[in-house]
Formats: sequence, structure tokens, C-alpha cells
Amino acid sequence: MFRIRPLPDHLINQIAAGEVVERPASALKELLENSLDAGADSLSVDLAEGGSKLIRLTDNGEGIARDELALALARHATSKIASLEDLMRVRSLGFRGEGLASIASVSLLSLTSRFAGADGAWRVEADNGRVGDPEPAALMAGTVVEVRDLFFNVPARRRFLKTASTEYAHCDDVFKRVALSRPDLALMMSHNGKAQWRLKPETPAARVAAVLGEEFAASALALDERAGMLRVWGFAGSPTQSRASRDAQFCFVNGRFVRDKVVAHAVREAYRDVLHLERQPLYVLFVELDPETVDVNVHPTKTEVRFRDSQTVHRFLFHALHKALAQTRAGAQQAGAT
Ligand code: ADP
Ligand code: MG
Repeated sequence: MFRIRPLPDHLINQIAAGEVVERPASALKELLENSLDAGADSLSVDLAEGGSKLIRLTDNGEGIARDELALALARHATSKIASLEDLMRVRSLGFRGEGLASIASVSLLSLTSRFAGADGAWRVEADNGRVGDPEPAALMAGTVVEVRDLFFNVPARRRFLKTASTEYAHCDDVFKRVALSRPDLALMMSHNGKAQWRLKPETPAARVAAVLGEEFAASALALDERAGMLRVWGFAGSPTQSRASRDAQFCFVNGRFVRDKVVAHAVREAYRDVLHLERQPLYVLFVELDPETVDVNVHPTKTEVRFRDSQTVHRFLFHALHKALAQTRAGAQQAGAT
């Protein structure tokens, strides 16, 4: 046994990275969220070898000032909240201040940025937890983050990575979530030098068609219901479009992709009389509610939430979907009658 002693910062970051960065797709998610929080309206991703060799994200957001570049890579440093009250009503996707620090501790990371209004761009590089001094760089606007050789210093994690095509598929999932949640953005992604996605700003319906296919978009039922501070809108797949897997179920709570049992159960119940139990409906739902009534600080990856009043949310979602699906039920009865 050792004597009790504080862990060095770099080791703390690597331990935390275990929760935040499971694979290239999780690093990509953190980078995309940062670009969205920075107000970017154009994001471009370049991946190599499923993201394990390279993840490069170029955005046109507000950028980071020279003297804050090193802080951006420090743990528990964030520009997004400053108090517990802020945390209670957080609207940004990030707020824990550990995304970049975690990624930097398990990769070779470089951060290049031009702060809005600054007369030049600067770059810092992180090498095994040590952040170098800012160097002048060439960049017209926004931020470029490059993550190379993910897990190069964590062989146990590296061994758990799957083939490049599997890792790419996970990155593709992450990309689709952002693409669906922000149809107002221009988004691009390439893999091993080959363009995979090129999306222009468009309407939500057009974006759903671009990401999930024309067939789904054409048959999906649009819904938009409100009750007080609660709103749900989006697209519920018609029962004829159902699948065996859950891979086309998207729920965003205040813009954040989440997996939530309350939502999943409400959807399940609403589809009950129009869909076989073993079939999965397709859907893209945007739930909006007062940020103070939902806790997003449940897990480091922030894909779980807790509703303060989950029964009300459940009932509301069930009724909204049930109403949208009534058209289907009426159609099915008519078809049965003829
Ligand atoms: P968090 O997102 O929780 O604040 P991160 O470690 O992901 O923590 O980022 C730390 C900080 O770096 C952010 O709060 C933000 O100020 C800045 N930052 C990171 N990425 C970008 C970006 N693409 N554009 C502008 N600022 C960024
Ligand atoms: Mg972040």
C-alpha cells in the first residue's frame, strides 16, 4: 500500500476520460457540442480510421482568446456556467468543463482558434497533459480542434476499439444526431478523405429526409403540441415504417440527444394499438421544457436526464403521440372496413 496522496492532474484527467471518452465517437460528440455552444453555423468534420487516427473539427464559432486556450484544455474550466443557479437552468450542451481536458489526456490534441475580433489566430498543443505556449497560426475565423491517435497512451482502451468501419459507424450516429437537432446548420463530414455528408441549412422536414431517408419523411406524421411550458414537436414514423431495431429513434430534450426511459415508455404506449410489440417505431422528437424542471447533470456524457415531474411529461408525450397516430388508426379502420 501507498501513503494517501493527491493524484497528479494528468492522472485525474485520464481517470475522468474513462467516463467521457469511451471511443472516437464520444470524443467527436464533445467536440461537436463545443462548436454548437460556440454559436457556429458551419461545422466540418474530417475523420481517419474511424476517428481513432484523426478527428478534426473545423467550426466558424466565436473562437477562443489567446490567453484562454490553455484554460480551455484545463479540467473544470468552462465559460458556460459560473454558479449553481446557472447549472439549474443550463441551456448550453456543455457545462462540466472536462471534455477537452479528458480528450487531451488520452490523445495528441491541438487547438487552433481565432477569437472573434482578434487580429490573428493562435494554436496550443497538448502532449501527455502538458499544454505548450500559444504559437501564432493561420486561421480566418472560428476554431479547429485536431485529435490524433486516440488512446495512444492507454493501451487497454486502444485494444477495446473495434474495426475502423465500426468506429466510423458510431461517429456517423453522433453526426446524425447533431444533423437532426440542428437543421439550421451547414454540416460536413469526411472519412479517410472521402466525403460522407454534405448538408446545407434546411427545414426540419427536409433535414429529416436527408438524414433518415425520403421514405420515412414522406410517411411520418408531423406533430406539435404544447401544454404550458411543455412542448413536443417532430415526426412520428407511421407504423408501416417500423423496424426490428431502435436505431432510428431520436429524442432531443432542450436540444440535447438523450436516451430516456420515460420518453421511450410514453412512445411505446402510444404506439401500442398500431404496432406489434416486437417492432420499433421510428421517430424524431423534440421535447422542450423549462430547463429548471429537468436535470441534465446525471452522467458525464450527459445523455441521461431526470425530469422533475416525469409523470406529467409521460402523460403529455403519450397524448401528443396518441393524437398524431389517430390518423393512422382511422386509416387502418377504414382499410379494415372495405
Ligand atoms: P465545457 O464544454 O463543458 O465548457 P470543454 O472542456 O468541452 O468544457 O471546453 C472548455 C471551454 O473551451 C468551453 O467552455 C469553451 O469556452 C471553450 N471551447 C471549447 N471548444 C470550443 C470551440 N469549438 N469554440 C469556442 N470555444 C470553445
Ligand atoms: Mg464541452
